Amino acid sequence: MFTGYLAVSHRCAICQEPLSDYKTADLPALFTILVVGILLVPVLWVGFAVFRPDPLVLFGYIGVFMVTLTLVMLRLVKGANVGYFWAIDEKDRGA
Ligand SMILES: [Zn+2]
Repeated sequence: MFTGYLAVSHRCAICQEPLSDYKTADLPALFTILVVGILLVPVLWVGFAVFRPDPLVLFGYIGVFMVTLTLVMLRLVKGANVGYFWAIDEKDRGA
């Protein structure tokens, strides 16, 4: 359903459904930021309380983890959003 990392293909390769009619706008980014942001505080808190690392080392590990999680989640959430909009037939009406 994707032609690039986040670019939705014009039509489904199997059923020819016009997938590009289902515009998700900023919803995937909003949802991803919400989840990653909520995870950030407890991960930082537990990571520092349990392992007592140097703050820069903790920042490095947490930074890599959060960026990876964001990049993986964003594509999955975008696919789920397009699927949800397809399921409720919420097409772009040019509003
Ligand atoms: Zn299809």
